[in-house]
Amino acid sequence: MLKYNFSAGPCVLPQEVLKKAADAILNFNDLSILEISHRSKDFIAVMDKAQALALEHLGLTGKGYSALYLGGGASMQFLMVAYNLLEKKAAYLNTGTWSDKAIKEAKMFGEVNVVASSKDDNYNHIPKGYTVPDDVDYFHFQTNNTIFGTQLHETPDVNVPLVCDMSSDIMSRQRDFEKYDLIYAGAQKNMGPAGTTLVVVKDEILGKVSRQIPSMLNYKVHIEKESMFNTPPVFPIYATMLTLEWLKDNGGIDWIEKINDQKAEMVYSEIDRNPLFKGFVINKEDRSKMNATFSLHDESLAERFNAMVKEAGINGLNGHRSVGGYRASMYNALSVESVQTLVDTMKELERTA
Ligand code: PLP
Repeated sequence: MLKYNFSAGPCVLPQEVLKKAADAILNFNDLSILEISHRSKDFIAVMDKAQALALEHLGLTGKGYSALYLGGGASMQFLMVAYNLLEKKAAYLNTGTWSDKAIKEAKMFGEVNVVASSKDDNYNHIPKGYTVPDDVDYFHFQTNNTIFGTQLHETPDVNVPLVCDMSSDIMSRQRDFEKYDLIYAGAQKNMGPAGTTLVVVKDEILGKVSRQIPSMLNYKVHIEKESMFNTPPVFPIYATMLTLEWLKDNGGIDWIEKINDQKAEMVYSEIDRNPLFKGFVINKEDRSKMNATFSLHDESLAERFNAMVKEAGINGLNGHRSVGGYRASMYNALSVESVQTLVDTMKELERTA
């Protein structure tokens, strides 16, 4: 097994979680977790815990929010958000491929005001200085742009409901989560295997659009049925629950944020120090602590560096095709040791080039 997994997903999970999940496939109260009924009391307890832990980690317990685990990926949320919330007009910030896709879906439901976009610069920065009008139904943005390696470190200050795709940095850092009215995140970066998406929604924002909403796409239906309107993705939810337990047992988001800060600092210091490498993101303040994108100044060194990376036991460092170069994804489960190995490999290339 490759030891150091810098893959952008899906999914990078703690060893303890993988072990427990593997054990549960073989035996979960005398059956396999893959075989148990989603209506059984054992699975209802898993779902309850996974929902409660998500709200607890985000500091939203008892504050009028519901947590759902839905199928369909984060991409399904691009349309569910608009289906449930867009009556006339919504504002969107375009910071990457996934924002662009969310905008495309929303346009099917109403007017979309793209308040700012960095698309023309291949998303190498987060646009600033835009205004979100007060007359829109909501403002949608992404905290972390997985492909390009940018991240919004501040929560935008707006007077309308805030809707956010946190797929690639959920549970990795503190934010003022109470400022958000709807948060969604595919489980498959920091929480669990692909197959379920966490949706945390403030109950009071629902039920305001005039259109009819099909049951499977209606947040209210899923809330009423406690996230079991249809057969939920049992195993991804179970693994997510294990990861959220692991996070809690170790000290929660406060604990992991310090480690994530340390890992990001190690990688970016080396990118800035090492004359062979350059970062993709043009403003340092926009750099993502989850996905660091960088490349070699001299592409003729790529073959040698790639071989050294492989030899060091590093997996998943290739950049996305729309950016090229390298992408070091440093999700919660990636160890500091892994990052040290990458930094040592970059230094070794400099020494031997
Ligand atoms: N949003 C972000 C920020 C992502 O990184 C991704 C996938 O990587 C998606 C949305 C799409 O998620 P899914 O593949 O679960 O639909």
